[in-house]
Amino acid sequence: MFWHGTMGFKGCKSYYPRNNVPYNAPLYDPWWEYANEHRLFALLHLYSGATNHVKEIADRYPEISFLLAHSGSSMSTAEERVKLAKEFKNIFLEITYTAVPHGSIEYMVKELGAERIIFGTDAPMRDHRPQFGWLAYSDISESDKRLIFGENMKRILDRCRL
Ligand SMILES: [Zn+2]
Repeated sequence: MFWHGTMGFKGCKSYYPRNNVPYNAPLYDPWWEYANEHRLFALLHLYSGATNHVKEIADRYPEISFLLAHSGSSMSTAEERVKLAKEFKNIFLEITYTAVPHGSIEYMVKELGAERIIFGTDAPMRDHRPQFGWLAYSDISESDKRLIFGENMKRILDRCRL
C-alpha cells in the first residue's frame, strides 16, 4: 500500500496479459479491500472468461470504480461492455483502441449515456492524436464529449479518499 498511501496513487492496474492472475483471485483481495475502502479506481484489461470475474469483483467492491479498457474496440465489444455497465453502476467503459471503429462511441452513449464512458489514449504506446479525433469528431453532443474527455474521470478522482 506504499504506492497508494504514501505516494498517493489513486489507480490500481493489474495486467492479466502479463501475470495471468485472474482479477477475482484471492491474491488480490487485500488490494481490492484497500481500494474499496479508499474508493480508488482500477483499469482492467479483459481476457476470455473475465466477464464473470469482473461481475464478481464489481459486486463485492462497490466503491471501486472499475474502468474496462478498450471498450470501444469493436461493436461486439461495445455491446458486451454496455451490458456489464448496465448491471453495475461502478463499471466505466474506457474507449481507446488503434482502429478507432466508427460508431462504437455513439452506440455506447446512446445505450448507456455519456456519464460512464472514459477517454483514454494508451500513451505513449499509442499515438493519442487519432484517439482524440475519434472522440472529438464523433456524432454526439459537445456536453457529452466534455464528460468523456475529462469530467467523468475528474468525478472518479474526486471521490477517492487518499
Ligand atoms: Zn491497453
